This record gives sequence, structure tokens and C-alpha cells, in this order.
Amino acid sequence: MTVTVRFAPSPTGHIHIGNARTALMNWLFKLKHGGRFILRYDDTDTARSREEYAEGIARDVAWLGIVPDLVARQSDRLDKYAEAAERLKAAGWLYPCYETAEELELKRKILLGRRLPPIYGREALRLSAKDRFRLEAEGRKPHWRFRLPNSGDDPFKPERTEIHWNDLARGKETVDLASLSDPVLIREDGGFLYTFTSVVDDIDLAVSHIIRGGDHITNTGVQMAIFRALGAEPPGFAHHNLLTDASGEGLSKRTGAMSIHSLREAGYEPLAVAAFAVLIGTSENVAAPNSLAELAGHFDLDETSRSAAKFDAGDLARLSAHVVHGLAYETVADRLAGLGVDPARAASFWQAVRGNCDHVADAAQWWRIVAMGPEPRPGLSAEDADFVRTAFAQLPPAPWGEGTYAAWIEKVKTATGRKGKALFLPLRTALTGLASGPELADLLLLLGPEGIQARRP
Ligand code: GLU
Repeated sequence: MTVTVRFAPSPTGHIHIGNARTALMNWLFKLKHGGRFILRYDDTDTARSREEYAEGIARDVAWLGIVPDLVARQSDRLDKYAEAAERLKAAGWLYPCYETAEELELKRKILLGRRLPPIYGREALRLSAKDRFRLEAEGRKPHWRFRLPNSGDDPFKPERTEIHWNDLARGKETVDLASLSDPVLIREDGGFLYTFTSVVDDIDLAVSHIIRGGDHITNTGVQMAIFRALGAEPPGFAHHNLLTDASGEGLSKRTGAMSIHSLREAGYEPLAVAAFAVLIGTSENVAAPNSLAELAGHFDLDETSRSAAKFDAGDLARLSAHVVHGLAYETVADRLAGLGVDPARAASFWQAVRGNCDHVADAAQWWRIVAMGPEPRPGLSAEDADFVRTAFAQLPPAPWGEGTYAAWIEKVKTATGRKGKALFLPLRTALTGLASGPELADLLLLLGPEGIQARRP
């Protein structure tokens, strides 16, 4: 079987790390098994969908390293939904209902008042053709519900009807169709709802596996019934556990918290965000891989736990910093050039400073120090300034190389009798204006004889 997976966000906000988890789990599945990855915009909710969000999602997905094989939009596919809806109507799967939202709410309250589950009682099925004619003459327009296959001949007596599937993440799952209301698939204004459009697309685009969050488990029971009503075998399903913040709150596109966009702006590394999004709440250690392919190699859907996974934003910051410390020069060359680092010195510069950068952008500060010297001038005591002058006078003549630093420090020790912090701190302060930073040996070579003498106190 050719694997086809899809990530199907609604473009109603910026995607957050929980959405990225879904996107990446699909992408890693495709990397592992081959096949296709579809980015599908579920944009039938025209009131809330916005082009700028769709563009933002495309950018975020690309930043994470995902390259869709196909991009689809539900708003381009309305004729497919209309055609499928006609088929379901003709086969009696869809039936027209005329209740207003207020009437439905009242029915719900009555059922709850009687301590009954608030399930729609299919009253609309009792309407005769005449009733419907009268209602439509009053100006009412129908919405259409899908009649869940949960009863024998009498639709008013639903019976326990279990839908089973072997969830690739959670194992055996069951939904009882008698515990649910017949879902509305077509709104009064003729608009199609996600529950339906998603199935039509998944059939049409030959989706083989639906990998999504655990908040869709009930939908899966309903959608499997819709697949079958449309004459298709349902695909495989996996429902991963959701992410919550440290206080146990779920994430929402509306609040913008932990959005991929904000993490990118804050300078996090995409690989760190990807590893964090995928591995948290699994049995794998949250460690940084060198590539998404490597991440795919040590992640399996069945390693996700069933309960929600709490994340700690501090852990992400640490993971991202760890990734930056190990980034090879080639992977950051463009970004360093963008920060104004001289390409001729950029490779050795990065080698020297990467361990002191939590974000690649932090290199800008180090480049300023290397290229222009510490600003403001380092405050050294008269005694330390004297020591630094003596130390600089011991510098060996050019050319400098590997052994220069060790030889120099030996000479400084002998000449001044200083060692340890009393020796290194004033030197570092004179060179960088800071109390910590890159290895002095690396700095020495980066700055060169001229750069060092320019820092003579
Ligand atoms: N648009 C749906 C969502 O964002 C897609 C769910 C699915 O993957 O089917 O929740």
C-alpha cells in the first residue's frame, strides 16, 4: 500500500507546538514508510479562515523542515462535497432537519433535566413531506444530519453499536455510535462541515493513514461510519496524546501561546522545536537529532502515552541552546552572513563562539566584540591593567598557530607569577569586556596580533 498522510489545519490562527506535533508525526511517518504528505487547508469555515493564516502555516511547516507533496484547499473542492452529499441524500444517509439553534438548546436542556444524555432524538425523521413543505413555506431552510448506523429498523431505538479500530498510537479503540447525536454535515446555509468534507477528501486523495490528536477520537467513530456510507473502507488511524502547558492548560490557536511563528521569532532552532514537539510525552528521551530523518528513525507512534503530555517551555529553551552549540558552520553560514559576520573569518569565528550562543543570533554580539572591541571599555583595576600590558608584551611574534596560546600563557605565568582566575579573568576582560565567553585560545587566533594590541589597556 502506498502511504498517504495529511496534515489538515484550519487556517484560523497561527499553528502552535501541538499542531506541529501532528504535522511532524505525519511527516515522520512518511519519511519512514515512503509515500506522500498532503498539506490540506480545512477552510470551509469562511467566517474564521484567513489567507494570512494559510500563508503563515505554509511558512511554519516549511521552517520545521516539512515539504508537502501536495497542497489542497477545501474551498477549492466544494463540487466534490456537493456530489458526495447528493449520493448520501439519495441513499437516505442524510435527512433534513429544521430545528433552530434555540429549539435544539431547549431539547438539550429538557433531556439534561431528566438526567438523560443530550442526544438528538431524530425528531426530524418523523416529519412528513407535508410538514417539510409547510416549514419551508415558512422560510425555514434545512440543515442535514447523517443518520448514524446505530439502530435496527426503528431509528428511535438506538442500540449499542461499537465501532472498533486498531489505533496505531493507542491500540484497540472503541466508540459506541448510540452514545452520539447524528452529526450535522450540511448547515442551513448549504455550507459543508468538517466532519464530512474531511472524509470526502480523505477518500478522494487516497489518504492511507489519518494521524491526528486524541481530541478527534469520537470523530473517528462517526467518520468511519461516513467512510462506509460513501462506499469506502476507512484508512488506518492514529491519535496521539495532546500537549498541555505546565499548568495543564491545552493550547489554542487563538491565544497564540507557543505558536511556531513566535518560537521562530524568538530564535529557536527548528530541529529542537521539532524534536521537542514530537518526543515529549513519549517513551523516548527528548534529545536533539541531527535531522528529521534521524528523528523518524527513533520514533514510533505507539511510543506516545495515552495521557496528555505537559511541556515545560524551559526544556525547549535548553534543547534549542544545546542544538545551537553543536551546529556545524555550513548550516549557519547564511545566517552569520546575515548578521554581518565577515565570511573570511566566519568559520573559525563560529567554531569559537557557538558554545556561548543559545540562539544563532547571539553570534551578533560576539561578532561586534571580535570586530570592534568591547564597548564600553572594560573597567580593569590599575594593577590588572598593568598585568595585562605585561602579558601582551609576552605575545610571541606572528605567525600564530595551534601552540601559540599555551606557549604564551606559560610565558605570562613565569613573567608575572599569576595563575588561575587572577591570570585569566583580566585577560578575558581586556579582550571581551565580559567575565565569560569563548575559549581564550580561540579568541587569540580570531583577533590576531593587531586585534589583541588594539585592546591594550
Ligand atoms: N481541521 C481539523 C483540525 O484542525 C483536522 C482534523 C483531522 O486531521 O482530521 O482539527
